[in-house]
This record gives sequence, structure tokens and C-alpha cells, in this order.
Amino acid sequence: NFDFADRVERVEPSATLAISSLATELESEGVDVVDLSVGEPDFPTPEVIVEAATEAMEAGHTGYAPSQGVRDLREAIAADLARRDLDYAADEIIVTPGAKQALFETFQTLVDDGNEVVLLDPAWVSYEAMAKLAGGSLSRVDLSASAFQLEPALDDLAETVSDDTELLVVNSPSNPSGAVFSDAALEGVRDLAVDHDVTVIADEIYDRITYGVEPTSLATLDGMRERTVTINGFSKAFSMTGWRLGYLAAPEELIGQAGKVQSHSVSSATHFVQHAGITALRECDDAVNQMTQAFRERRDLLTDLFADRGVEVPVGDGAFYVMVPTGDDDARWCEDALSEAHVATVPGSAFGTPGYARLSYAAGEERLREGVNRLADGGFLSL
Ligand code: PLP
Repeated sequence: NFDFADRVERVEPSATLAISSLATELESEGVDVVDLSVGEPDFPTPEVIVEAATEAMEAGHTGYAPSQGVRDLREAIAADLARRDLDYAADEIIVTPGAKQALFETFQTLVDDGNEVVLLDPAWVSYEAMAKLAGGSLSRVDLSASAFQLEPALDDLAETVSDDTELLVVNSPSNPSGAVFSDAALEGVRDLAVDHDVTVIADEIYDRITYGVEPTSLATLDGMRERTVTINGFSKAFSMTGWRLGYLAAPEELIGQAGKVQSHSVSSATHFVQHAGITALRECDDAVNQMTQAFRERRDLLTDLFADRGVEVPVGDGAFYVMVPTGDDDARWCEDALSEAHVATVPGSAFGTPGYARLSYAAGEERLREGVNRLADGGFLSL
């Protein structure tokens, strides 16, 4: 009979778990499930990165790493960020086991009990849980009426953000909508953040996976560098989800505080993985471009497949997800799509946006065709 802490009781189990356990159960019964629920590239990690990790292990980089991260990697990250006009020194970066840990540390560092955290819905599933674990209270701005774009919803954001707001989370390109926010939208965020003295998390983990647009990094805007925590990682662009490598970049005073959370929790990211990260940043532009090109072709295919069936999906210019309308009960739609059509998707309500399901197109073309056919044949697209 445990007496659980309030903080864990505040957090709901992930809505995606029900779907993935049902999918696993079906697969174990021999059912061919088209899994469009996963948020990871279906490509192998580029070979040079694997080789770099092997070499690093053989060279003996198997002990504890410096908590903040291997200096050469932090320098490579700083150089990489400079390509996006972001001006961070190696000392303003903490290398973390995954961007998720970088986000977790940021929430722990900034959010006190009762502090207001503002999310833009649909928002990636873990922001809410991380805010709540830190004791924060949530306010949400819905972007679904504006095809998931922020610019038309700036007035709503202005009504939500106030002097009481501690933190605002901006994720562009977005998981789950794929939306890349316009410069005007980011300038609107800047104006509000400066007026109300709000810190902003800029989760830019999909910044390399864009189609014909160059996303602007929030911290490049005047007045933002000193109030932004830039989050990024290797999972998506380099297909390194299982390696657990990401980082946060922020002014040094924040790094000092967040560094305490890191050193007293995970210690560091895995030592030899950090060495492989240097290779990823320095030698993998072609591999990243090839994967991104494949995602782009799949996105266009998926849009055409839906259009052929009369379904309009708001297509984003980044990441590898689309939100498909489901009618009010998205959880039910997803459960039925899985149990009847054997297509796994994630309910929009998991991202704060009921009425949609998130489909990932990090899957082969044949799987995408098959998935849409099954949904259409099962009546899931005729709302
Ligand atoms: N941020 C967003 C928007 C994501 O979609 C994800 C992964 O799904 C993460 C952060 C965390 O990525 P990782 O911890 O694998 O670096």
C-alpha cells in the first residue's frame, strides 16, 4: 500500500499506450497491422555514425562523460546552431540523453508549484506531463481552427499570455501537425514574451526535416536569445531514436541551474554516443537530405491518397505527421481503425486536440497506400 506522491498522481498514463498495446496484441496474433502511430524514422542510423560509435568504444570512451557533455560535441553543436544563425557558445549547451531529458530538465529548472505554462494545441504529448510533474498549471491555445498555424491565432495567444505566465512552449516544425510557424507568428510570440517577461521553450527537434521552407529559430529574433531555451536532438534528423542524444542551449545562468538537475539525475548522455554525435553533425548532411526527401515524397503521396478519397488534411511543411479528421470521438475512431482496419494511429486528444488522429508517414510507400486503402474501405474517411 504505497502512498504515492501527488506529482505522479497528477499525470495520466499516455493515451498512446492503449493503442500500442492493442497493436502489439494484434500482431502477436499474426495480424498484419499497418503501424502509422510511431514517431520515429524508419531508416537505419547512417553507417558512418555507427562506425564512429564503434571506434569511440574501442578508443575507450566507455567511462563517465563530463556531465554537461563532451566538449568537442558541444563545440560541434555550437557550430551547427550557427548555421541557423543561433549564437551559442559551447558553455551554453548541455548534452542530454535525448531531447526529452533536455525538456524535462528545463521544466524542472523553471516551473514552480502553480506557475502557468502555456501550450499551443496540438502539443506534443509530454509537455503537459512534464509541466504537471514540475507542479505547473496549464493554459492552452487551440490552433485547430487555423489549420494548425499560429499566426491566425496570435490574438488568442495574446489573451492567454499574461504577466502570470512563466513559460510558453513553441514547437515548430510541430509534432503532431507538421506545421512550420511563419516568421510573423514567431515575431508575435516574441512581442508577447518580451511584454510579459515570459521564458519560451523553442523545441526545434524537427528543424532539419522541412519541405521547401527554412524554419526560423526563435532565439534569433531580437530580444529572444536571453529568454529562450532552444531544444534539439539527434533522434529524428539522423534516425538515432534509440541512441538517446539531444541537448538544450540557453544563457549560462540557466545552464548552471539545469546542470544540477542533469548531474543529480542521469549524470550525462552516454559517452561513446556523444562521440558518434560529432560525426552525425559533421558528416551526415547528405544522409539527412536523402531521408528528408523520402519523407517529402511520402507526405505528397499521402496527401494525394487522401485527396483522391475526398478527404482534406492540413499538410504541414515539416516533421513527418499529418492530422486526419475523425469526428468527435477520436479515441474511439483510433480504437476501431486498429481493431477493424488494422491501422494504428494516435488520437488527437493525446495532443490536446480531439477530433483528429495523428498519422505518421515515417513508413514505406506501400504501407501508406495500404493504410489509406484500409481506412477508406472501413468507412473511416467518410465523415
Ligand atoms: N520533442 C518533440 C516535439 C518530439 O516529437 C520528440 C520525440 O518524439 C522529442 C521532443 C523527444 O525526442 P528524443 O528524446 O528522442 O530526442
